[in-house]
Amino acid sequence: MRALLLRGDRDLALEDIPPPPPPGPGELGLRVRAVALNHIDVWGYRGMAFAKRRFPLAVGAEAVAEVTAIGPGVTGFAPGDRVVPYAALVCGTCRACRAGRENLCENPAGVRGFHIDGFATEFTNHPARLAVKIPAGVATEDAACVAVAYATVEHMLFDNARLEPDEWILVHAGGSGIGSVAIRIAKALGCTVIATVGGAEKVAKAKALGADHVIDYQTERFEGVVRKLTAKRGVDVVFEHVGADTWSGSLLSLKRGGRLVTCGATSGPSGSINLMQLFQQQYRIIGSFGSPLSATSRALARIASGIRPVIDSTYPLADVGTALDRLERRDVFGKILVTL
Ligand SMILES: [Zn+2]
Repeated sequence: MRALLLRGDRDLALEDIPPPPPPGPGELGLRVRAVALNHIDVWGYRGMAFAKRRFPLAVGAEAVAEVTAIGPGVTGFAPGDRVVPYAALVCGTCRACRAGRENLCENPAGVRGFHIDGFATEFTNHPARLAVKIPAGVATEDAACVAVAYATVEHMLFDNARLEPDEWILVHAGGSGIGSVAIRIAKALGCTVIATVGGAEKVAKAKALGADHVIDYQTERFEGVVRKLTAKRGVDVVFEHVGADTWSGSLLSLKRGGRLVTCGATSGPSGSINLMQLFQQQYRIIGSFGSPLSATSRALARIASGIRPVIDSTYPLADVGTALDRLERRDVFGKILVTL
């Protein structure tokens, strides 16, 4: 079968490898239909993180698949079912897993595509307890964006930031895979959305998604615009994932008692904070990484209700290099999929 293998840092190759054995106890045999790319993939492929891994490694953390075989003891699945596989192999038995907080698992066996073989292979086996069936009415390509991107947004906005209707939210990088979904979800909830983007073309696209105000961070200081738009009050929630370039301005954009939720640092991992500002303004700063398994089901239900992810483009497996280059250059609006 074909597989996309990382053979070393920046050495990605399409190879023919033997297919997996039949699924073992508790496992599903899957035919992968597509993988979706995330910034974390760029880091992973480029060798900038994840020291503990062995090459060659099959890449791909976010995928959609079809069940082809059922392992011993598995119930509730049938061949032909479409599923979203959870990206991390969590234990299912620790205190965090039992509480439905799988992204805090105390004994994770790794994230697929980073520490252990991922989904960019035609066939793979995966624990049935870590697979979520896709409801009718959700397109397969939309479901490909759920396991990492959409579920991350779901977890950030609702479990962590506790976003409410009528609130103001600042969404950074509104053209990114997660930013574009955050705009749509917040608008559907009834929030007022301010988005930042880079470049005039993305301003128009973010407005078309429903953002009430769009700031081109290449030409304007976003924190000044936010203060003006909110009559100096600030926003209730900042959706952060840019990091170094936006951190200080994000804090200045918050209203008293506001919440900042962050899941990334694509422009760099360091930022400073004025502690007097933190406690006097009573900010809440919340780190968010991945999502619990329940967020995948909630995300799929939200897509079924019409709040779809934004898909920029779809590439065949052989063109993954082009797709990664575009993501790295930020020449993208929404998600990039790679079909198998
Ligand atoms: Zn666990």
